Amino acid sequence: MNKTSCELIGDLLPLYADKVCSEESRELVAKHISGCEKCRKELEIMEKPVSADFKDDIAVIKRIKRRMFIENVVTVVMISVFLLSVCNLGFLVMFTSDLPMGYYEYALEDKICIEEDADGNLWFVRKEGAKKSFFLLPDVYDENGNRLSTDEDFDKEKAVAVSYQMRIMLHEKMSNIYSSGEEKELLFNKNDKPKIQTIYYYDEDTDENIVLWERGN
Ligand SMILES: [Zn+2]
Repeated sequence: MNKTSCELIGDLLPLYADKVCSEESRELVAKHISGCEKCRKELEIMEKPVSADFKDDIAVIKRIKRRMFIENVVTVVMISVFLLSVCNLGFLVMFTSDLPMGYYEYALEDKICIEEDADGNLWFVRKEGAKKSFFLLPDVYDENGNRLSTDEDFDKEKAVAVSYQMRIMLHEKMSNIYSSGEEKELLFNKNDKPKIQTIYYYDEDTDENIVLWERGN
């Protein structure tokens, strides 16, 4: 029986140690190890109770799992930060592309005008099909043609003329936003414009102030 090779017994030993092999195999292994020191030693190692080594292994596995968890969290955070910056970049491109709308380039003659209503209020009118501007940039001048300000804090007593520039904040190519129907924006109510004589549209391409409205016209 000792002829049974150590190799075959080696295959059976784990099953034998776990007590899951067949009766026949069990007898075979038992007989072999009674006469084979080498295989008996191997079995003893397999049958050792759960050792401190194994507990160390669990600690190592826990450490690895914790490290993997931290790495996963770091990865998720980094991906989030990356996606957020991509989004921000998109917004940055969209909202800093502050382009003046050329009066001729956009054929604004047909698309915008200044209207004075019965009460004397002045309105900026965008007709249907005009590209939506996102803000109007006013340049205010005194009677000597001096520029007072580019914002709304100008000295109303001195103001006699305003030159506006519509600026689109979306890039021209991205901006397919058209006003649906007529849109009106109040520029001056009657109390604000006693001295305003002229309202221009400033065309940056030609460096030209185009008259949109003149008092008495
Ligand atoms: Zn053996």
